Amino acid sequence: MEDNEKVMAGNFIHDEIDADLAAGHAPAVHTRFPPEPNGYLHIGHAKSICLNFGTAQKYRGLCNLRFDDTNPAKEEQEFMDSIKADVHWLGFDWQDRLFYASDYFEQIYQYAVELIKAGKAYVCQLSADEMREHRGSIGVPATSPWRDRPIEESLDLFSRMRAGEFADGEYTLRAKIDLASPNFVMRDPVIYRIQHGEHNRTGNDWCIYPMYDFAHPISDSLEGITHSICTMEFEIHRPLYDWVIANTTCPTKSRQIEFARLNLTHTVMSKRFLRRLVEDGHVRGWDDPRMPTISGLRRRGYTPEAIRDFCERIGVAKAESMVDAALLEHCLREDLNTRADRVMCVLRPLKVVITNYPEDGREMLPIENNPEKPERGKRLLPFGREIYIEQDDFMEEPPKKFFRLKPGGEVRLKAAYIIKCEEVIKDEAGNIIELHCTYDSETISGGSSTKKVKGTIHWVNAKECKTAEVRLYDYLFTEDNPTATDGDFMASLNPNSLEVLTNAKIEPILPMPAEKFQFLRHGYFCVDPDTENNHPVFNRIVSLKSSFKA
Ligand code: ATP
Ligand code: MG
Repeated sequence: MEDNEKVMAGNFIHDEIDADLAAGHAPAVHTRFPPEPNGYLHIGHAKSICLNFGTAQKYRGLCNLRFDDTNPAKEEQEFMDSIKADVHWLGFDWQDRLFYASDYFEQIYQYAVELIKAGKAYVCQLSADEMREHRGSIGVPATSPWRDRPIEESLDLFSRMRAGEFADGEYTLRAKIDLASPNFVMRDPVIYRIQHGEHNRTGNDWCIYPMYDFAHPISDSLEGITHSICTMEFEIHRPLYDWVIANTTCPTKSRQIEFARLNLTHTVMSKRFLRRLVEDGHVRGWDDPRMPTISGLRRRGYTPEAIRDFCERIGVAKAESMVDAALLEHCLREDLNTRADRVMCVLRPLKVVITNYPEDGREMLPIENNPEKPERGKRLLPFGREIYIEQDDFMEEPPKKFFRLKPGGEVRLKAAYIIKCEEVIKDEAGNIIELHCTYDSETISGGSSTKKVKGTIHWVNAKECKTAEVRLYDYLFTEDNPTATDGDFMASLNPNSLEVLTNAKIEPILPMPAEKFQFLRHGYFCVDPDTENNHPVFNRIVSLKSSFKA
């Protein structure tokens, strides 16, 4: 966690916090990350996590993890467990400050009663549809027929709502604010609704639940949150947030500050869309390596360091923007370049027989593990008469600038010899199945020969390699912004986002010394959990080349 202690760069939120601290408005900085446990966390949440926990670290304050579990219908234990694991994996810790909005249900209820008693809330019996009809329009105030219900009557109805006397939707509790407000959020918003059904933590204790706009400011206030950082869509809700804090006796004057959510190209971020991908079987699960979820990125081979670096680089602002997925990949390459040892793996093998090499000859040839880190040392590769090279490193009728293997041509085998293609062997259908080559024994890599060729290719020993499954990934969506168009976002689902190669040949590195490698010339790869003893499975994390200019 060392580089986690690096203090995050300043942003406009920190300017606001500095001003609050200078004016004596806040004793210390206390933030929270408040996920709703109705799905897995995604890279957008990572931005919020880095911002909330990072801000607390910077100001030597505190950051709570709070499950915003006020909707009994959609929340599951599986999601809570995954959220906790993901926050920890990203490198952050809430220590003993794990909270649940559901723990405050009784207190939130009492604040609602307080509002009713003060004439600031009332029980309404409009249905959702009727409420929409009464909401007015720009310049035309809303109407609310139950607004002047006597306090005693509202108190009675509210307690009967709680007691379970009514069906879902029959009654609501509304804050009495301003029916003429230009901000529709303030036109007597619903703050409690009836919803029967079992809650993950409170069981059947409750059949009324506070709305987000009521539960959130009170939860913040009860926990002593000084700065409640959230995304821009809550900006128009801020007057209501402030109203709740100002009109109840809740303890802390928490302050809401909004920032722009992260949008990333070639993917979707909303949990609703991600759930659809999972439930309709377009991906293998929430942790499919193509998913923008934290668990998907982890399985893909992303490191927490790369994700934190990404979150730092994108910065924090108020203006909406779309971040190029290439930036995320760039952060990962930078991290893995020094971290990952190099390995040779042939994805689509073509057998090469070196006809002038001794039948049972075998040499161990040294090759460096990581040219960026000489201290990672060298390993010995077995060389022999039969090897595999990449199918597309040979062309029978190559274009002019093709510097790899062609009939009669020469190429260097990485860390080994220069070979020359003497004969192309084909099957009856005319497919190339084997090459017969000769090697020049004077040309061992690092030796004294001055012979030069233009191309160097990777290879593995055919007798001493392992067969592996390799999964190559592309973006889930072909469009930059799949949800931008009017139609269904599924229209731009990329049918080729996964390519599975079942016959890749990898140098004998088993048992696996690490989880992440650079396969020479192919990119960075990690071991997938589907790996079994004799069946290694690798995910391509990212290719080597980038279109991104840092
Ligand atoms: P989604 O729209 O993806 O379903 P959400 O806002 O409903 O997300 P929550 O679990 O309520 O998900 O989010 C927890 C916190 O993460 C909130 O403070 C929210 O503002 C923040 N957050 C969610 N999505 C993003 C994003 N794309 N970028 C930055 N922060 C985000
Ligand atoms: Mg939400």
